[in-house]
Amino acid sequence: NKQVTLKHHVSGFPSETDFELRTSSIKLKVPEGSSGVLLQNLYLSADPYILLRMRNINDPNHYFTSFTPGSVITANGVGRVLDSRDPKFKKGDLVDGEIGWEEYTLVTAPETLSKIEYTDVPLSYCTGVLRLIGLTAYVGLFEICAPKKGEHVFVSAACGAVGHLVGQFAKLAGCYVVGSAGSKEKVDLLKNKLGFDEAFNYKEEQDLDAALRRYFPQGIDVYFENVGGKMLDAVLLNMRPHGRISVCGLISQYNTEPEGPKNLMQIIYKRIRMEGFVVWDYTSLYPKFLDWVLPHIREGKIFCIEDITEGLQSCPDALIGIYKGRNIGKQVIRVAHE
Ligand code: NDP
Repeated sequence: NKQVTLKHHVSGFPSETDFELRTSSIKLKVPEGSSGVLLQNLYLSADPYILLRMRNINDPNHYFTSFTPGSVITANGVGRVLDSRDPKFKKGDLVDGEIGWEEYTLVTAPETLSKIEYTDVPLSYCTGVLRLIGLTAYVGLFEICAPKKGEHVFVSAACGAVGHLVGQFAKLAGCYVVGSAGSKEKVDLLKNKLGFDEAFNYKEEQDLDAALRRYFPQGIDVYFENVGGKMLDAVLLNMRPHGRISVCGLISQYNTEPEGPKNLMQIIYKRIRMEGFVVWDYTSLYPKFLDWVLPHIREGKIFCIEDITEGLQSCPDALIGIYKGRNIGKQVIRVAHE
């Protein structure tokens, strides 16, 4: 069983040397006395929060726990049941849940797995749009910001896993939508394939405030925040009175000493509501979300962009790539063919 483990806790930007690829022997059977399920892993997810778990977290308010050095990195993934001692799962079932960055995972708490019932959409979507990534976009936009038809919506990291869904959801709600992303290829995709009204490359803008004024001459009603830092400061200057900001992530701050926004007074002047959220608090909305999103995907009204890399050994580089802005859409790793 090839596995990707954490070598040591990480303090700065992640590097390949923070991981170890090891091989251990495994019997392809659930051991006697265990009530577990043995999976052959097919698709694994790489997400920004995995780096946060690779750190030595000592903030009591943090909602993650640290990985222990030497342990296998875990993430959402899709697998096929090879052997099961749980009556709810049988050999050949396709399931998803939190599994290891490894070829095979023995899941000792099978209640954490979900059986994949719909096979008319790609299996890999269960690492993204059909699970917590999709729910994150849905909750952050609709529950926190409640955009109205005709309102002006801005999304940062707009070509990432969450962002590219947020923009499409907002278009379905009848909004004017602009996204920012870090390359020309991403900007073209947002405008020409994903239906954003406008998009811009924030790395080419000397003055983010001026860029936002160009795209939002009358201001922003709703901001879906994925990055923080200078972008948040520029957005605050461009919000409309009674605007709403959903704080999903602050990825520009994950590898540096956090810098506070300078323009916070704007929140008072403009009566802005800014709310952070953690998707796990909203899992009760999951059935409603799935009923809404699946038909849109099936009818081709929502495109799900995936960046699929091949082979377990590419997991570390895939995670590092997210922090370099290399991924286009949801970063997925294919470990074995369906
Ligand atoms: P993405 O697929 O969007 O990948 C992250 C993207 O962020 C990169 O592709 C890159 O795109 C951009 N980025 C990376 N570093 C920086 C930087 N220093 N400054 C500006 N942009 C940067 O990731 P996800 O969609 O999975 O996550 C998006 C955000 O949502 C993250 O902040 C994540 O932590 C958060 N999140 C929060 C959840 C919650 O419950 N609150 C749940 C899931 C995710 P580019 O630079 O090209 O724009």
